[in-house]
Amino acid sequence: MRKAVVIVLAAGAGERLGRDVPKALLPLGGRPILARAVSAAIGCPAVGLVVVTAPPGSEDLAHAIVEPLGAHAVVTGGATRHASVSAALAAVPDEAPIVVCHDAARALASPRLFGAVLDALPGWDGVVPVLAVSDTVKRVRGETVVRTEPREELVLAQTPQAFTAAALRDAHARARGSGMEFTDDAAALEWAGYRVRVVPGEVGNLKITTAEDLERAERMLVEATRA
Ligand code: C5P
Repeated sequence: MRKAVVIVLAAGAGERLGRDVPKALLPLGGRPILARAVSAAIGCPAVGLVVVTAPPGSEDLAHAIVEPLGAHAVVTGGATRHASVSAALAAVPDEAPIVVCHDAARALASPRLFGAVLDALPGWDGVVPVLAVSDTVKRVRGETVVRTEPREELVLAQTPQAFTAAALRDAHARARGSGMEFTDDAAALEWAGYRVRVVPGEVGNLKITTAEDLERAERMLVEATRA
């Protein structure tokens, strides 16, 4: 069976972290966030090539970080996440049947989670790992509560997300043509009418967005080495 191609999205500026260096190039527990995300992908036996989207101007640095880890290609990211996925898809070999999209910002996802989304893909167009919502969720407009949403049907979506390459390419091309922007790839498939299923995500698979997230991820790594 041909192995899956993983797109690791690492071209964000990471402005909410308040640092000069692009987020994915920052160290987390002594290793760049990008190295951790790519290592997790390559640690899954079903994964072959990894395509990384690098911030413009940081391509060589990204290449130097992922070079020792395994088969990879580095492409220049776009102005939006969507544009970065499109740039990466252009570097995915035409014959690749399955593509996984993963945010470098989720540097603590495990190789096991890559395996779980790939195992769940047969018979579906896409697979997204999710966590149940335990808080009460309210819809607000400004300071006003509009209503309380029933949380039973709500989940929090993570990456890595696995897709058939044909569905991912088609959904992204149509979304681009319609001027749609989505915050994850599963949303593009849902919008395009494809069938996307869920599998359990990982509590430790947090998305590093703020300085507090980075500190929390550092603490989690320290705790994991103590356990
Ligand atoms: O901005 P946000 O944190 O939602 O980005 C999610 C992921 O997409 C990050 O890992 C980021 O590096 C990546 N990204 C990208 N190209 C962009 C914007 C974000 O590859 N233009």
